Amino acid sequence: MDIIRIDSHVTAFIRPKEGVNAGLIHTPAGVIMVDTTSSPAEVRSLLEASGVGLEEVRLVVNTHSHSDHTWGNQVFSCPILAHRTCLERMQSALQHEWSQKELQAYLADLEKTDTSKANDFRNTLKELRISLPGQTFEERLEGELGGVRYEVIHLGGHTPDLSVVWLPEARVLFASDLIFQGRYPYIFDADIPTWITRLGTLLEFNAAAIIPGHGMMCGESEILTLREYLQNTWELTGEHIRQGHSADEAALDAGYPRFPGEKYERLHQANIRYMYKRLSE
Ligand SMILES: [Zn+2]
Repeated sequence: MDIIRIDSHVTAFIRPKEGVNAGLIHTPAGVIMVDTTSSPAEVRSLLEASGVGLEEVRLVVNTHSHSDHTWGNQVFSCPILAHRTCLERMQSALQHEWSQKELQAYLADLEKTDTSKANDFRNTLKELRISLPGQTFEERLEGELGGVRYEVIHLGGHTPDLSVVWLPEARVLFASDLIFQGRYPYIFDADIPTWITRLGTLLEFNAAAIIPGHGMMCGESEILTLREYLQNTWELTGEHIRQGHSADEAALDAGYPRFPGEKYERLHQANIRYMYKRLSE
């Protein structure tokens, strides 16, 4: 993990190996935490590494409902803010994929395939009490803490509930999972055309620094790379459908855009199949 102090008001936790990024906004009146990682233990370790005490955190923002952005919520006693649909998606997940029954079933599957991951997940489940955002907003929220202005802006795309956090004075953008830097994106709750449009919206911020949801700090070229990946993969998959090819046949095409590295290679084919399904609806 790299802990990057971007300017006097922002710390970014950049964790391409561990998984998800997160960040802190420092103000004279306390700290705002952007996303809470995938477990209480994980988020505690970030705060400890940055020397920020839990009691200093005055507000938490969940940029979207995915577990790797929200499952550390329970350690905070301050308000947790998210888009209204983020709260609704978390409430729904608690009845379905986050129910005790489903989580135990997931753990049982993991025990068969990856013992080390299973051990970590069992430890997380032992103390996990999924904590919901208590404050919601609609399109855009403009706030201020200790004289530092911040905006939380609903954009959707990667998920219907996704919001970005913007600091207008420092011109720093927490882009959340609208950006996966240097790797295949996770797209299985996504509206792909909206995502492609929203990447254009991110360019308009003209940010001095961008903290993506996953991967290294990035700039305009990474946004363009991801937009090209989504656009070309979407169009090529549509072309396969028009030519009457099956999803299996489409996934064999070597002409799709690729990201280097093995770690997320399985996502490449899964993404093509997801797009095939959406385009066939
Ligand atoms: Zn996500």
